[in-house]
Amino acid sequence: MTEPDTDDRVTPPEIGPEDPLVLDDDRFHDGNVCLVTGAASGIGRAVALAAAANGLGVVGVDVDADGLAETADRVADCSFPGPFHAVETDLTDDDAVRAAVETARDHGEVTFLANVAGLQHVAPVESFPMDDYDLLQAVMVRAPTLLAKLCVPDFREHDHDCAVGNMASVHGHYVTADKVAYNVAKFGVRGLTNSLAAESDGDFRAFSVSTGYVKTPLVTDQIPDTAEQRGISVDEVVEDVMLGQARASELMEPVEVANQFVYGFSEHAAHLNGADLLHDDGMVNTYE
Ligand code: NAD
Repeated sequence: MTEPDTDDRVTPPEIGPEDPLVLDDDRFHDGNVCLVTGAASGIGRAVALAAAANGLGVVGVDVDADGLAETADRVADCSFPGPFHAVETDLTDDDAVRAAVETARDHGEVTFLANVAGLQHVAPVESFPMDDYDLLQAVMVRAPTLLAKLCVPDFREHDHDCAVGNMASVHGHYVTADKVAYNVAKFGVRGLTNSLAAESDGDFRAFSVSTGYVKTPLVTDQIPDTAEQRGISVDEVVEDVMLGQARASELMEPVEVANQFVYGFSEHAAHLNGADLLHDDGMVNTYE
């Protein structure tokens, strides 16, 4: 067996033209818009690229304008058919969120919503800064709820199936210490998904995607520091700390997560509503 390359483990992979799952679906064309939050980095960028690879019009929302420009460059470099429109938006600003949805409407029928943007703050509950708690809830729970509220009337008007995909996590199933805001937010995201399904009335669907650690800047940036802090190697951080509970030898890649969104949006998932696509290498359902 080939040993994994240590450098590869701390470098988020770049998505190539052949990486996204491309499905045959009548709704995957540039007249239909997929609004993706967090599109400047990591999983959100991967979802934006995968949606563009499937020919959808993509409206990528993020607070990071430079990152959005890099996503646009990547869509062009890969020659993906779907046009990509960047909309710099702070998801904590309701007016900016409303404007982003208006921009999405300008580019076609808003058909898919991918709520992916997120952030982390690590601190024990007794010293957890409430401003950070509020920020995490605002970005990861309130904004997805507001976006759904704004998009659902569009979904009900269209004569085709529409869908909301929410990025959850293993932390929406079980939790680790010192991440109270993140844990509450990810359980909230699953509650939002179920609530949308309860009110969907056959006009749209909602699903969530849950994973363990994924090779994005959010994770790979921490690996060298964690190795130094704990006095262990980069390989030990990946294998023992991040993959400790997982029955796997490598972290999941962003495009593998994005492909779950492609599937969830597609006609192959026509009966997926309210459920979570848990791809965690056995983390949640096995025990040591
Ligand atoms: P990332 O840091 O690479 O990307 C997150 C993006 O969200 C960034 O581009 C950031 O600018 C954006 N964002 C943050 N605050 C924002 C705001 N106020 N307004 C607009 N955009 C904002 O992280 P990632 O690893 O790609 O994570 C994406 C999602 O996936 C998050 O919801 C995260 O919780 C979830 N997730 C990640 C992992 C993982 O291991 N990376 C695992 C499970 C779930």
